[in-house]
Amino acid sequence: MPEAPKGNTGSSARRSRFDTLCVHAGQSPEAVTGAITTPVFQTSTYVQEGIGRHRGYEYARLQNPTREASEANIAALEGGGHGIAFPSGLAAIECVAKTVAAGGHIVSEENTYGGTTRMFTSVLDRLGIEVTLVDTRDLAALEAAIRPDTRLIHLETPSNPLMRIADIEAAAAVARAAGARLCVDSTFASPCNQQPLALGADVVMHSTTKYIAGHSDVLGGILVVRDEALAEELHFVRKSTGPVPGPMDSWLTLRGTRTLHLRMARHNRNGTLLAEYLQTHPAVRAVHYPGLPSHPQHDLACQQMTGFSGMLSAELLPEDARRMVERTRLFRLAESLGGVESMLSVPAFMTHASVPEPLRLRLGITNGLVRFSAGIEDGRDLVEDLEQALRT
Ligand SMILES: *Cc1c(COP(=O)(O)O)cnc(C)c1O
Repeated sequence: MPEAPKGNTGSSARRSRFDTLCVHAGQSPEAVTGAITTPVFQTSTYVQEGIGRHRGYEYARLQNPTREASEANIAALEGGGHGIAFPSGLAAIECVAKTVAAGGHIVSEENTYGGTTRMFTSVLDRLGIEVTLVDTRDLAALEAAIRPDTRLIHLETPSNPLMRIADIEAAAAVARAAGARLCVDSTFASPCNQQPLALGADVVMHSTTKYIAGHSDVLGGILVVRDEALAEELHFVRKSTGPVPGPMDSWLTLRGTRTLHLRMARHNRNGTLLAEYLQTHPAVRAVHYPGLPSHPQHDLACQQMTGFSGMLSAELLPEDARRMVERTRLFRLAESLGGVESMLSVPAFMTHASVPEPLRLRLGITNGLVRFSAGIEDGRDLVEDLEQALRT
């Protein structure tokens, strides 16, 4: 494999605009045949010409051209030089956490993806890493949680499923002052709508399972960073612990990102349409969507986001919620999000069932809270589907 695009975005694509980067970044025609798409390099190892004489490829846990193309592609979309991919979003978060040594301390948003909260509260403690959960909307609370041994601040914005918005730039200043790193789980926004590195974050993380791959057919995660030393550290942890995505999954992810900009435009539009519709429905008591002027942090969302994605949640009476999610025809009752097809879920019983009940209730993840992932269908069909499902 001569001259693979290792960690570079391709000189012709470097100065391109976002939509062009989606299609081209990290990719160049394959050297042997000129294949226009990056092939699936389904191999575990590479033949060496002599001891220590190879082409930069030794073993697939360390290097794989398909994976590298996908990493360079997403890194370019986030405006970072280094992408480090994982077989799931949680594996990506775990890798960041493992840069914190035993005895270190993490401050995390309290309303994160349920699996993140579970890892922070039930797994990291076994490694001697302590985690404090706070409401990161409250800067004073974030600052108060910082300790001399704090090494990492973890934000999730917009948060799952309450669509809380954390001020990335302000949190970056808190992290800098504390000598800690800032990691932002930007999964709900996608690189189209939010660029945490430009706002001062050290690491941006995505569950690529969601918008980035976008077709509900692959699990994955990625970290993007600018700092060379941090990239090296993350690469070291990954190669030493082993969580690498397979070549086929990397290829599917790369195939997804090539249309990310087109899909997100429709997700953003349908998200807004559904939020506006649900807001007027008598069975709906509240809608959480950062794009609505009624969202308490709408101004902040407008400052740090360029679109608001297809993710929203709404509060209903538990019996109305149950009836609706079991009666939709287009919206599928499922635990994921960010795919081309619309989905809904009741987090208290599904994605957030592992969050301890007292925390769940304090956060507002009630049994009647429904989370929606607006797909890329015709928005009018989606509204009509909810209309018929909500009819009594
Ligand atoms: C799904 C998700 C994760 C976990 O990612 P997996 O790919 O399922 O491991 C983390 N954060 C957010 C916001 C998510 O939606």
